[in-house]
Amino acid sequence: MIIKTDMFRLIVTESCNAKCKYCLASLTPKPGQNQSLKAVEQAARKAKENGAKEATISGGEPLLDKDIINKIKIVKKYFKKVNLQTNGTLMINPKGLKRAGITHVIVNLPSYEKKVYELLTGVKKFGKLMSNMKKALKAGLKVRINSVLVKNYTGDYAHCMKMIEFSKQLGVKELTFTQLVPANEFARQHRTDLDVTRELFKKLTQTENKRYHSADVYNFLDMTIALSSCPIKENSQALENGWTKEYVLTEDSKLVADYFHQDKTLMEVLR
Ligand code: SF4
Repeated sequence: MIIKTDMFRLIVTESCNAKCKYCLASLTPKPGQNQSLKAVEQAARKAKENGAKEATISGGEPLLDKDIINKIKIVKKYFKKVNLQTNGTLMINPKGLKRAGITHVIVNLPSYEKKVYELLTGVKKFGKLMSNMKKALKAGLKVRINSVLVKNYTGDYAHCMKMIEFSKQLGVKELTFTQLVPANEFARQHRTDLDVTRELFKKLTQTENKRYHSADVYNFLDMTIALSSCPIKENSQALENGWTKEYVLTEDSKLVADYFHQDKTLMEVLR
């Protein structure tokens, strides 16, 4: 069976320079696996042939990969829209990323508060991240903030509203609130029900609403705000019907359908 897809995701490394409490990458740092440029080219072509319309380059932290510029250039040959998902702390040359082919940057930022950011990510790089984001916006890249909802830290209405104001002031037009994936014990214990943001949800639902994969997307205060739930269950159902949100090329050059179902679908995708 051929599994159709919307998105090509390239995971260039599972290592990261941050140590987010809720992330597996921070618990299992491992050296890069030297993903080959040939594997990137083949995977991008295959994803395109099977329906992918855009690409996302992610990690771990993708900017740790010394070959990142060459990989972006290859992906760009197949996709007009190329997103870079990053923690932003190493994004010192956004102009160079744009020249290579990046159009959108998705920055992981759990909190507008320096103290909470440092506590959750384990790095003291808030100032650096802010200056890199401003540089990216100045370089003409579209920036989206991806903010995880962490119970007792960032998962309440007041924090969400302040994140919206903060992003708007920075000049960022897109903000996604994401439910934690239950990747480790911390994430399981601090996973919010999306109902935690009930008040925010009430405000948002008075505006225009679209469903996009596992997210509800709203126009609110001249911004695009998305509420995204953990998609593992929905993805399983979609796979049964021969569709997946994304094809993923893993760090060790395996092309799979959906990061969470690697074993189940590897053979189908490669066929
Ligand atoms: S920045 Fe992203 S990849 Fe790195 S530890 Fe945090 S959540 Fe994981």
